[in-house]
Amino acid sequence: MSGINYLYPEFEVVRNDERCIRCRVCERQCANEVHFYDESRDRLISDESKCVNCQRCVSLCPTRALKIVRSDCRLRENANWDGDTIREIYKQASSGGVLLSSMGNPKPLPVYWDRILINASQVTNPSIDPLREPMETRVFLGKKPEKIERDGNGKLKTALSPQLELSMPVMFSAMSYGSISYNAHASLARAATERGICYNTGEGGLHEDFYRYGPNTIVQVASGRFGVHEDYLETGAAIEIKMGQGAKPGIGGHLPGAKVGPDVSRTRMIPEGSDAISPAPHHDIYSIEDLRQLVWSLKEATGHRKPVIVKVAAVHNIAAIASGIARSGADVIAIDGFRGGTGAAPTRIRDNVGIPIELALASVDQRLRDEGIRNGVSLVVGGSIRSSADVVKAVALGADAVYIATAAVLALGCHLCRTCQTGKCNWGIATQRPDLVKRLNPDIGAARLINLMTAWRNEIMEMMGGMGINSIEALRGNRLMLRGVGLNETELRILGISHAGE
Ligand code: SF4
Ligand code: SF4
Repeated sequence: MSGINYLYPEFEVVRNDERCIRCRVCERQCANEVHFYDESRDRLISDESKCVNCQRCVSLCPTRALKIVRSDCRLRENANWDGDTIREIYKQASSGGVLLSSMGNPKPLPVYWDRILINASQVTNPSIDPLREPMETRVFLGKKPEKIERDGNGKLKTALSPQLELSMPVMFSAMSYGSISYNAHASLARAATERGICYNTGEGGLHEDFYRYGPNTIVQVASGRFGVHEDYLETGAAIEIKMGQGAKPGIGGHLPGAKVGPDVSRTRMIPEGSDAISPAPHHDIYSIEDLRQLVWSLKEATGHRKPVIVKVAAVHNIAAIASGIARSGADVIAIDGFRGGTGAAPTRIRDNVGIPIELALASVDQRLRDEGIRNGVSLVVGGSIRSSADVVKAVALGADAVYIATAAVLALGCHLCRTCQTGKCNWGIATQRPDLVKRLNPDIGAARLINLMTAWRNEIMEMMGGMGINSIEALRGNRLMLRGVGLNETELRILGISHAGE
């Protein structure tokens, strides 16, 4: 009785039988088993209750016979009880379980990037043509010295802290092997290497095949310590301690045993088929002093040659938290906003916990400046950076670089069906099923990511040129280049920008 399903399917499969040639591609391609062939009627039939609208069948149907549409069969919604809320109540009454979701927070909360506009030069301060003039998009992440000293021959006397060099201020954010596939990781690693940026292992360790991409790899150390050993730390260009994640602040990770096959098990150093559960806190970190110990230990383990990043979720009081992290010896602080993606998170946490990255970034940058320690640490932000314009706005608000993940998986073919947690990704990304993994060709995946980064870099240079700025360094924290639209006084004050027209 409790398992009764009161729900009409969310999506309807519209098949044009005139066009359908019964090739059964849709049946073979759908890991959710929506389509099946009825021999007696010589027709393809759909079980719409299983459809997640991943668009795989629509994309591959050779005759364009398919459409997936949102059902217009509505529940008795009103302004207080919307369809999703009613649907979730029915699901929980049926299962008794915590609701799980993936990708980022879809709620209609403000996207501040869309309320910030970028400046351009006119008349008195000339713009720069990026096709004819040199433009510097390289960034170096790590502590910067207060002053530089040289000897009589001009040779640098000041010892520099380790730096992570990027050809542009964008990196691929943490996505673990296990949550995403081998071929997705291969695509990210190759593209990062080709473009001179970095990708991030996430908390799942580093597959032995990817050690060769080490100079473009950030290796993560999370609370579960999966796959962490000396060679792993030594291989990465930088080490990231993950304290938090924007999609699920305060929550640990859970990779179901079904996704822990032989390769994932070896990489994570856990038994095959066992659930990989990373605890919510690091059990050895309860203070900034404890964090300092871990930062120091990782630096000692790698001869002080690697920058250490501390990643936290954007939460209330993030400026004070970042100030503490800056004093822990970390070289880089990565802050993940509440729209950050995930392979699996409790829905209530994803949709209700954390704060927008735009506000977090502005307040952290200002706090570190006020305390005179901004140069002691670099800032990287993520959590739904969707375009080169978001990158430019983030840098002007104070970021040294950004992390992207959802944009990267979209480039790999993700259609945002938001069911990564099921492990049945029809696009070969968030899955470990060999038949699905092979659908993502890493050569094509890498080429698409390289294209995306090339396009974004060109656009960043165009926007910089338009502002009359020829180096990313001159844009960082240059909030005069930004104006707000439709923002209230408090929002403008936190963002540290004027309203358009001022
Ligand atoms: S893929 Fe298209 S043409 Fe082929 S069986 Fe399915 S609906 Fe028909
Ligand atoms: S990665 Fe795959 S399962 Fe996840 S949202 Fe994208 S298409 Fe859907």
